[in-house]
Amino acid sequence: MNRNYKTMKRRTLLSTAAVAAFGKYSFAEEKIIEVLEKEPTQPNGVIKKTAEEWKKELTPEQYRILREAGTERANGKVYEEFKKQGGGTYYCAGCDAELFSSEEKFDSHCGWPSFYDPSKAKNIKTDVDYHLGYARTEVRCAVCDGHLGHVFSGEKFESLGGKKTPTGKRYCINGTVLKFVPFPDKKDGAEKKTDKKK
Ligand SMILES: [Zn+2]
Repeated sequence: MNRNYKTMKRRTLLSTAAVAAFGKYSFAEEKIIEVLEKEPTQPNGVIKKTAEEWKKELTPEQYRILREAGTERANGKVYEEFKKQGGGTYYCAGCDAELFSSEEKFDSHCGWPSFYDPSKAKNIKTDVDYHLGYARTEVRCAVCDGHLGHVFSGEKFESLGGKKTPTGKRYCINGTVLKFVPFPDKKDGAEKKTDKKK
């Protein structure tokens, strides 16, 4: 009996350990794109915070990308989720400013969320970086100055058969630093945006 008790206790301990280990693993996994039910309140003007303040608000991965110009893993869970998302609007995970929408989303097969234009151009700014030893055009949030990704042009996406993009640009964006709000008319099966302001 005592032996059985010990065995049971041991099993309990083992499963607790397994849960703990699994929990830790889950926590270390990539964060999927946050989905909100309605549009977040739009910021008024530029947002500035200290590194400590950003660290409290953002996940470590979001901080690494937004504040340290990092890049999420290509073809990861974030990208898989992004590809499955229907019509909706994308906001900055740092400051809630509207950035992109599914209207400008296209499948570039590059492994990161791609748009051919921002939905709110005034919330986007660009800069040249040389992090890889050559010039690339960095895309930043104009409101919180967070790094979002890069924009590339001249890749001939505008001439892809049946999948033309009107700008020829590819905004290659880290999905980790976006929040998604599905269009309200999604339930009707319609994905077109109705009263959307540019
Ligand atoms: Zn922002």
